[in-house]
Amino acid sequence: MVTIKSKREIQLMREACRVVAVVYKELGEKIKPGMTTWEVDQLAEKIMRREGAIPAEKGFDSGIRGVPPFPASICISINDEVIHGIPSKHKVIKEGDIVSVDTVALKNGFNGDAARTFLIGKVSKEAQRLVEVTKQAFFEGIKYAKPGYRIGDVCHAIGEYVRSQGYSVVREFQGHGIGREMHEDPGIPNYGKAGKGIRLEPGMTLAIEPMVIQGKPNILELDDGWTIITEDGSLAAHYENTILITEKEPEILTML
Ligand code: MG
Repeated sequence: MVTIKSKREIQLMREACRVVAVVYKELGEKIKPGMTTWEVDQLAEKIMRREGAIPAEKGFDSGIRGVPPFPASICISINDEVIHGIPSKHKVIKEGDIVSVDTVALKNGFNGDAARTFLIGKVSKEAQRLVEVTKQAFFEGIKYAKPGYRIGDVCHAIGEYVRSQGYSVVREFQGHGIGREMHEDPGIPNYGKAGKGIRLEPGMTLAIEPMVIQGKPNILELDDGWTIITEDGSLAAHYENTILITEKEPEILTML
């Protein structure tokens, strides 16, 4: 079921989403070569708790038998890791890496969800272009995130833009509605048919999240049951915001 948020609920969504925006602002200033991904996780959790929120990914259960709940506050995925990388004391961030962080803040019963891919120091031109295209894919998609369009228009715009740039979208994972639950309806794939799917209405809050691969779209899951990598070893990037559908242009809730 797609939930339409009331004015009060929208205010609460704004606040949860603001916390995520603050996390990324501070991570952007502090993430450096030599840090472990565990240190980035600790920093993100500290910021969230300081802002009165709880890291909603911690303890998240995939529902898959034999896979332990997610143990950390952020997913952190480097270079050919696409999403769901687990923070580790043994994983050191290096100059030239691209580092995707995805996190969800829960505050007053509502979730805010966003992802960023950080460029660490001097990064190759090609990696930089991948990260820029992934971000732009989000903005191409939300051109259609308003009444009068359907969710398929958003999905189609993202997929076509990425394809036009010579990259692939991940097909096995998708964006989603968000609110009291981290994942609500509708599912929002990064490809699709224009004119299909639910009609967009004011009060919907949606997490739209292009996941883009430099090479072929095929992915693999590591034995940890979480980390997703590209099959061909090419780079991947991720960019996500939670948005609010309004009468006019969408409001991006996870940007300051
Ligand atoms: Mg997310």
